[in-house]
Amino acid sequence: MTGPGEFKPATVELIWDRDEGRCALCGRNLWRSRRGEPFLWGGWSVHHREDRGAGGVKRARPGREQPRAHLALAANGVLLDGDGVAGCHGEVTRNQVPARLGFTVARIGIRRPVEVPIRHFLHGWVLLDNDGGFAPVDEPAEVAA
Ligand SMILES: [Zn+2]
Repeated sequence: MTGPGEFKPATVELIWDRDEGRCALCGRNLWRSRRGEPFLWGGWSVHHREDRGAGGVKRARPGREQPRAHLALAANGVLLDGDGVAGCHGEVTRNQVPARLGFTVARIGIRRPVEVPIRHFLHGWVLLDNDGGFAPVDEPAEVAA
């Protein structure tokens, strides 16, 4: 059972293939079978660029489109070693990775993950799509903090 905002197994496969089984931030090779295991054991996870937020995503009411369905699509996910506290996933979660690199997408922003460039370890500056693909883009100009 996949909960709201969680990546379905087929989506994880798209992300795994796009990222070639490596951490999108540092390039470390990941073992397919170690998803969810501790960082020290080589564990990895799929990072949500736009966070599901505290309490997660509310389930859609019957007959209503789930408003934040994009949270569970491929453009919103990248492979990172570790988890929410350790490894690259921990660094991103603690905001130790500059926001301009695109690993985090503001929930209150007007741009969705498909519109926010990311500096991917393997692919360079790209826009990710929801079909497991990506398109090269120019490095975004520095934005004054
Ligand atoms: Zn890494």
